[in-house]
Amino acid sequence: YARASTGGSEAQGPRKRIGVLTSGGDAPGMNAAVRSVVRSGINQNCDVYAINEGYSGLIKGGDMIHKMSWDDVRGYLSIGGTLIGTARCMEFRERAGRLQACYNMIERGIDALIVIGGDGSLTGADTFRDEWPGLIKELLDTKRIDEKQYKAHQHLNISGMVGSIDNDMAMTDHTIGAYSSLSRICTNISWVSATAESHSRAFVVEVMGRHCGWLALMASIACRADYVFLPEMPPTANEWVGKMQSVIERHRKGGRRSTLVVVAEGAIDSELNRISPEMVKDALVEIGLDTRVTTLGHVQRGGSPVAFDRLLATLQGAEAVRCVLESTPETPSEIIGIRLNKIIRVPLQESVAATKRVAEAISKKDFQLARSLRDSDFNEVLENYLSISSADITNKDHLKAAKPMRIGIIAVGAPAGGMNAAISTAACYCLVRGHTPLAILNSWSGLARHESIKELDWMSADRMATLGGCEIGCNRSLPDVDFGMIAYHLSKHDIDGLMIIGGFEAYKSLQMLENARNIFPAFRIPMVCLPATISNNVPGTDLSLGCDTCLNSLTTYCDIVKQSASSTRRRAFVVEVQGGNSGFIAANTALITGAHACYVPEKGIQLEQLTMDIRHLRECFRADQGRQRAGRLIILNEKASRGFTTQNIVSIYSNESEGAFDVREAVPGHIQQGGLPSPLDQIRGSRLAVRCIKFLEEMPCQWSRETRSDKSTSACVIGVVEAKVKLTPIKYLWEYETDETLRRSNRMSWYPVLLMANVMTGRPVIDEADQFPLDQIEQ
Ligand code: ATP
Repeated sequence: YARASTGGSEAQGPRKRIGVLTSGGDAPGMNAAVRSVVRSGINQNCDVYAINEGYSGLIKGGDMIHKMSWDDVRGYLSIGGTLIGTARCMEFRERAGRLQACYNMIERGIDALIVIGGDGSLTGADTFRDEWPGLIKELLDTKRIDEKQYKAHQHLNISGMVGSIDNDMAMTDHTIGAYSSLSRICTNISWVSATAESHSRAFVVEVMGRHCGWLALMASIACRADYVFLPEMPPTANEWVGKMQSVIERHRKGGRRSTLVVVAEGAIDSELNRISPEMVKDALVEIGLDTRVTTLGHVQRGGSPVAFDRLLATLQGAEAVRCVLESTPETPSEIIGIRLNKIIRVPLQESVAATKRVAEAISKKDFQLARSLRDSDFNEVLENYLSISSADITNKDHLKAAKPMRIGIIAVGAPAGGMNAAISTAACYCLVRGHTPLAILNSWSGLARHESIKELDWMSADRMATLGGCEIGCNRSLPDVDFGMIAYHLSKHDIDGLMIIGGFEAYKSLQMLENARNIFPAFRIPMVCLPATISNNVPGTDLSLGCDTCLNSLTTYCDIVKQSASSTRRRAFVVEVQGGNSGFIAANTALITGAHACYVPEKGIQLEQLTMDIRHLRECFRADQGRQRAGRLIILNEKASRGFTTQNIVSIYSNESEGAFDVREAVPGHIQQGGLPSPLDQIRGSRLAVRCIKFLEEMPCQWSRETRSDKSTSACVIGVVEAKVKLTPIKYLWEYETDETLRRSNRMSWYPVLLMANVMTGRPVIDEADQFPLDQIEQ
């Protein structure tokens, strides 16, 4: 069994005693991080102690420091804030406070500390570690500890996780809580926008972020704000009013009925004067707009964490445990970060220093430096946002491209969250660059039968940006519905670049068009496929658009189902999820909802494993004895097994329960496509869409349509591969990474997530390949 119920064995003692605390401002996902530390620690034969109320609890000691059992963190995943409490503690800033904290730790034998908090909390932890040798010496000299304790606690191992809604830590792309906060902001803005649109009003929305404009910028991209004020990019003093007014007047003239301006809490002008929401409002009133101010305040902190934060916190918690187990007196203190979608370790001091340098650079008016200290994502999306939102779209001459192109945009397959954002951004970026964006409506069948091609103007592209589904229509038809007609229409409309967005059919379309280039000159144009599918089964990317939206829908759905099961006390739900032959969605759902077992097509369902899972479930329910939070989930991919249907699995679990539990089936179905796309999918979709258009721009003139030579590099799939945005030729992917029969990639980059899900619920596994000890699961 992956799970050990009490940590270290009686005979040998624990491998380590780890303390975990949350400190500073609370952030959604902190509970998931604590849960992960507790269970990963127990899995590694450590004892884990929760320290209540941050450093205050460490100084007070007593009941504030208590050993955690496996079951103590049940239900933690879905709860917002921090259940072990957080505080700001002045005494810990003083040596005397830290001396007492040191004593309390040694008294309990705690020799490692994992801190979840902002840069202040992490700096405190690092200072504590530096001072540790002096502190224990003083405790020995004053006879508060004995020689044995002194020798046993020579070194303090620490590691940190950044829990902060502002996403203000340098050297990591995301902090725990940032996407949950962004999600709350975007939901609130969408409500405000509905009323703004109805009354043709302007709204100024203030969001958190004293020295960091991440929330403000990302909310502006996801919600298509007209204008944004960020601390890292202050407008010129005395000029910003006029500039903002002219951009907003242009947008109104272009057809916008409402106006949205986002102001970060720390917004300033180039002379460091504060720009308040009221000042922005006055400027908008001056140009005749009926304007209201909304300050979102603490709603931005609240609520259940989104899928991304649960995943991030769980993976980072396990890494933090590994980090304290591996650290030596020589290794510098580290925090756990993430770069694109890879969990990394970052030197704590360097990261804190770089974070502080941002605030210093701003105070010294070196705004370029401040921006350069943000991650590459931030700067790329900022540049994209500015080029689109401030372009003079009413002045056609201004927008003439050196080599204007006619770019076709087509959606193929099922809808996925973020498709509209990507299509809208691609179209707007085309317009900014002087190209003509042409939407091909209703996929290949639409083009073949009705020649349905529509030129997108600014407003039609703008209107679809924040919507769910796919506004230009999509279906699963392939180009072979009528190659000849498709080639004819592409030529007739002079399309000289093609962006195909969608799932496996979009990918296959690209392969078919590329293959048919020898016969149809119309296909000898640069083409790019942007994967968008909740199944995440397209080769060439580790992540498709729509997955995050889907996982958020499943998170909400499963939380509700689990709550129902918990109320009944002895009930398990078998939740059937989509994903075709790919287990990505099932594995991720299992991890972020704390499912008891998960079945994916890549592994199938073996009777032996099923028997083990049922026995384990029986034991868990019997051990509960009617306690709270007792609901359990089993996640089953729709194609997990050829032999067993979902009903079969429900019946088998029911029959074998021996009265310990009952079982129900839950099928979320098309709810998984999500309603409103998640901000993450919108932002990623917009970013990749701009890259797609840049790719099409760079490719064309190198060859003519009449050339028959192999130009496979001009037909590529764009994706995120091993922490990098990458364009890979379809020819390569089709040959080496595609399982055509099962319609999926033969790379399973998500598989460690399934292993981690097993560890987090202590699931026994039969397959040796799945019996990874935690320290060998590569993230
Ligand atoms: P947030 O981003 O929410 O503000 P934070 O961790 O930066 O989180 P702080 O108030 O700066 O929040 O720090 C939280 C606690 O960490 C402080 O109350 C204090 O106990 C401790 N702390 C912060 N800085 C130091 C320091 N330099 N030395 C010792 N302890 C510190």
